[in-house]
Amino acid sequence: MQDVFNMKIPFNKSYLTGKELGYMQESLESRNIIGNGSFTKKCEKLMEDIFVAKKVLLTGSCTDALEMASLLANLGTDDEVIVPSFTFVSTVNAFILRGAKPVFVDIREDTLNMDETVIEKKITDRTKAIFPVHYAGVSCEMGTIMDIANRYNLYVVEDAAQGVYAKYKEKYLGAIGHLGTYSFHGTKNYTCGEGGAIVINDENLIEKAEILREKGTNRSKFLRGEIDKYTWVDVGSSFLLSDILAAFLYAQLEKMDEINKKRKAIFDFYYENLKELEDAGNLRLPIIPDECETNYHLFYILLHSEEKRDFLMDELKSAGVQAVFHYVPLHNSPMGMKFGYNDGDLPVTESLSSRLLRLPFYADLGLEEQKFVVDMLKKIILHLL
Ligand SMILES: *Cc1c(COP(=O)(O)O)cnc(C)c1O
Repeated sequence: MQDVFNMKIPFNKSYLTGKELGYMQESLESRNIIGNGSFTKKCEKLMEDIFVAKKVLLTGSCTDALEMASLLANLGTDDEVIVPSFTFVSTVNAFILRGAKPVFVDIREDTLNMDETVIEKKITDRTKAIFPVHYAGVSCEMGTIMDIANRYNLYVVEDAAQGVYAKYKEKYLGAIGHLGTYSFHGTKNYTCGEGGAIVINDENLIEKAEILREKGTNRSKFLRGEIDKYTWVDVGSSFLLSDILAAFLYAQLEKMDEINKKRKAIFDFYYENLKELEDAGNLRLPIIPDECETNYHLFYILLHSEEKRDFLMDELKSAGVQAVFHYVPLHNSPMGMKFGYNDGDLPVTESLSSRLLRLPFYADLGLEEQKFVVDMLKKIILHLL
């Protein structure tokens, strides 16, 4: 396909609010740029207030937060964790590192989130936790998941990497389970390049979490003036984010609503303009259940086959439009197979992931670019596919 308008539309770009440099400058001038500093506290307070969370701690990444969660839930050898296969590797690595085993469940056709109706059948004496992943910023069926967890006494760790500022029945994602994790990676809605946070909703785990993040010391108490020197009190590691990055992040968190509105406009444009292709049976658009309020993390379409998806992706690329797919399922990956899984075990996951295509999506994607993506999609789908 010819590159008519000479457009080059990348898949993702980190959005900047304009306040990032100023706050970073302020952080530098304070000459106190280590973790758990003043911007870290500002970010944490802002999130605790908005998300109505008991405690939020910034971390180096969502991967860090997931590892912290696995340590806090005391996951260990031969414990089992129920988790979708349709997710990023970090969700599962976090507890495999502790010796726990993944029990993969299939996903729902509509939201591509873990199928809550199959969870109970997977529970054994060894089951310790459920790790729901809120795909694309659309919530898992948290009512059912929390009910099952309470009945079987299991921890719920929400991987809300993509779900920051999204809601399920008026509650913010990450603030529903015992623990929640956020990502501020450069590809996410609100970012500082690399960064994350853990949300601690179970009060009993707050002090342990603070110690864990500060290398096993009670430095957090010391910084609050509650003790006059700090010392080694438990196991720990370093899961802190530099305060320079927290300064960057604060500029973004202050503007969550504004960023969200920009993303909504792009999502709505894609949706409204691609609806005729869905109505004609050419593709499927995202489905958002009534009880879920999305943060418009990404926009995907589902094609009829992997061949059609790959063809469309290649044609878009020739037209200058970078569209990508994810996730390659974990259960039938080389690592997943070491846990005894195989092709065919999770048919919905395998089918949907092979037919999914993500369109360019970032907060300042221009209207001309959006139109170009839609026009190219229509041309290719209606004339070539
Ligand atoms: C992005 C992402 C992560 C990892 O986030 P990092 O901050 O890069 O560690 C984990 N889980 C999901 C579902 C993600 O989308």
